[in-house]
Amino acid sequence: MVKDQEIFDLIEREHQRQLKGMELIASENFVSDEVMNAMGSYLTNKYAEGLPGKRYYGGCQVVDIVENLAIERVKKVFGAEYANVQPHSGAQANAAVLLAVLKPGDTFMGLNLDHGGHLSHGSHVNTSGILYNPIGYNLNKETGRVDYDEMEKLALEYKPKLIIGGGSAYSREWDYARMRKIADEVGALLMIDMAHPAGLIAAGLLDNPLKYAHIVTSTTHKTLRGPRGGIILMGKDFDNPWGLTTKKGEVKKMSMLLNSAVFPGQQGGPLEHVIAAKAVAFNENLQPSWKDYAMQVKKNAVVLADDLMGRGFGIVSGGTDNHSMLVDLRSKYPDLTGKVAENALVAADITVNKNMVPFDSRSAFQTSGIRLGTAAMTTRGAKEDMMHLIAELIEEVLNSPEDEKVIARVREKVNETMKDYPLFAY
Ligand code: PLP
Repeated sequence: MVKDQEIFDLIEREHQRQLKGMELIASENFVSDEVMNAMGSYLTNKYAEGLPGKRYYGGCQVVDIVENLAIERVKKVFGAEYANVQPHSGAQANAAVLLAVLKPGDTFMGLNLDHGGHLSHGSHVNTSGILYNPIGYNLNKETGRVDYDEMEKLALEYKPKLIIGGGSAYSREWDYARMRKIADEVGALLMIDMAHPAGLIAAGLLDNPLKYAHIVTSTTHKTLRGPRGGIILMGKDFDNPWGLTTKKGEVKKMSMLLNSAVFPGQQGGPLEHVIAAKAVAFNENLQPSWKDYAMQVKKNAVVLADDLMGRGFGIVSGGTDNHSMLVDLRSKYPDLTGKVAENALVAADITVNKNMVPFDSRSAFQTSGIRLGTAAMTTRGAKEDMMHLIAELIEEVLNSPEDEKVIARVREKVNETMKDYPLFAY
């Protein structure tokens, strides 16, 4: 057997980086040992194209049970009638929905990327923007919240076939009921991508989009704290609105279109080891302790946002309803870019990502903001007092982002503090 010391040394180096630092990237989390073990299991050896009970490969008797468990568990977590747990990632899940619902050139709507949307909601560099015709809606400049009046105006003007809600840097609850009304008004389907707040929705702390949307997608690795991957859900299956029929002349259900858009439309063999890890995570989501975790994530986010605002930082929309916040650096540090801020904080072992703020005059490479989230630190056991410390350390670094001594001092404090926090405390 070849021993690959080089890669395993790097894996350990990354493990140490994670242990030593404060992780504030809003889309990241730390998984349990059980989720990790399921991913690194014998299931990685198995091909299983198709769905449980309807595979194109033999020997699927065990992975069929695994995949059915994942499906049943996630249906229970979100109250869904339908689930496909095969998408390799959130972007793949979204691409599959677009493939099922749209034809090339069709018009759809999504939140603009520079207002907090995701690449896969219509960016011109993503297949969603290359193959289809996206119309972006925005946040309101005064409130920093989704401008539903503009959304309605655009929908009436452009008559999209699909409206997408959800985003990557939006800290507020969505008005799903209003979105469904707008979608119904113009005969569009409504898809909600709940990738970011899914873990809080699972805990019942935020409104459940499955009650309103025709289709819901998510990643499984952010607040949901599973392996990297995607899912597609429906609260209720329904006949496709375009009258597509099977060879037998029966109207195809949307579930049929979605399943075939994932495979063979979008992917080959599903990653059954990742699906097993998804099943483990969904089981964690169903435990009473999940609510404790999710409540702490939310509490921590409010404390962190309030503390930062108390120090003169701008927070887009003036606060947060979920695990995340978008810090607008311009009010406190007009000359500091998100890029310099990210680099200085990363040098101090506080990991964040630069992010455009709505109506940003800087490019996506520079930006005027940073995005923060509390899901990962909460998994490590961080409570409110840690949020105050984080705010203090962020300010200390950003007051002197080029001062090596300040950065070294903060890094030492971060490393010392994190010694008492395991990666997974829940
Ligand atoms: N959807 C949203 C809202 C996201 O924020 C992300 C990732 O950040 C994705 C989809 C894409 O997920 P993935 O990176 O798994 O493709």
